[in-house]
Amino acid sequence: MIDLYSMTEEELVKLMDELGEPRFRAKQVFSWLSSGTPIGEMTNLSKALRQKLSELSVDTLPKVEKKLVSKIDGTVKYLFALHDGECVESVLMRYKHGNTLCISSQVGCRMGCRFCASTIGGRVRDLFPSELLGQVIAAEKDSGERISNIVMMGIGEPLDNYDNVIRFLRLVNDKEGLNIGYRHISLSTCGVVPGILRLAEEALPITLSISLHASDDETRSALMPVNNKWKIAELLSACVDYYKKTRRRISFEYTLIAGKNDTEEGARALATLLKNAFRGTDAPLHVNLIRVNAVEETGMRQGSIEGANRFAEILNSLGVVATVRRRLGSDVNAACGQLRRASGGNKNEN
Ligand code: SAH
Repeated sequence: MIDLYSMTEEELVKLMDELGEPRFRAKQVFSWLSSGTPIGEMTNLSKALRQKLSELSVDTLPKVEKKLVSKIDGTVKYLFALHDGECVESVLMRYKHGNTLCISSQVGCRMGCRFCASTIGGRVRDLFPSELLGQVIAAEKDSGERISNIVMMGIGEPLDNYDNVIRFLRLVNDKEGLNIGYRHISLSTCGVVPGILRLAEEALPITLSISLHASDDETRSALMPVNNKWKIAELLSACVDYYKKTRRRISFEYTLIAGKNDTEEGARALATLLKNAFRGTDAPLHVNLIRVNAVEETGMRQGSIEGANRFAEILNSLGVVATVRRRLGSDVNAACGQLRRASGGNKNEN
């Protein structure tokens, strides 16, 4: 069986050759797929070709299993069912500058961050390129609106599913497909250093986000097991390398957890750490502060908004631009991994 949504236009051209079809059909199929049109409704293809494609291919487009719409800000949280019954989440956020979709990169996650709901049951499997792309296609189809920005900040570690993620980035950027510019795509990582170094070589002008969450190794290792493998110094040196190769701004995510990483000394240490690491470069330093979303099983507590603002103030006063992120969809459980967990993970097991 073939996975049409994972195929590039050039690969579809080869497929058309094999099927004895004219090559221009590849472009037609590619663009129908991008709009989430079922094969049976690809009306400019012959019935015979539609029949052949249906027999040959497996439908990997995620299906809306559950949908929660925020009454506060219109944020939509999707629980998507995959073709094997597994589930992942995406969140559609509406901003003045356009619609942003936060997508998942794996079913579950094996990185083990202590505060995160996505990692509690471990990693079940990687998502195919088609399932990464399919979240965007399905959200556009369901909402009837164009998605202009993508953030890979949902369930999973994108750099732990490297090849599929890179293929997805090229597919979603394709002019004949969804045509979403690389500059409108962010990829967030917990700090998989070899992945960051490889990504720097791809020369895709996407935005890299680093989930830092601590400014010393002891604190970071206690929160994020990945830090036992790649320490902060190694991580930041990979970031500098990434900046030098791509000239793209890196954004640092910092989840504030009460009593763990939210002290004023911590804020000063963070500013010093980042400034030292990027000394001699012209990289703008930007930190996104997020107050932790309390997940029952993790026992991590959220601090006050005043504390978060104070943390930001200290960073700003030391020359590191910091903002406290506005929370969208707070009434639809929009923190990653929580809806999938509540659903029991696999819809076939319910
Ligand atoms: N694996 C990637 C992307 C997914 S997590 C990464 O680690 O970056 C997306 C962001 O949400 C990360 O910054 C992550 O640390 C953060 N996050 C996870 N659980 C959270 C929680 N309970 N509260 C606040 N932020 C959380």
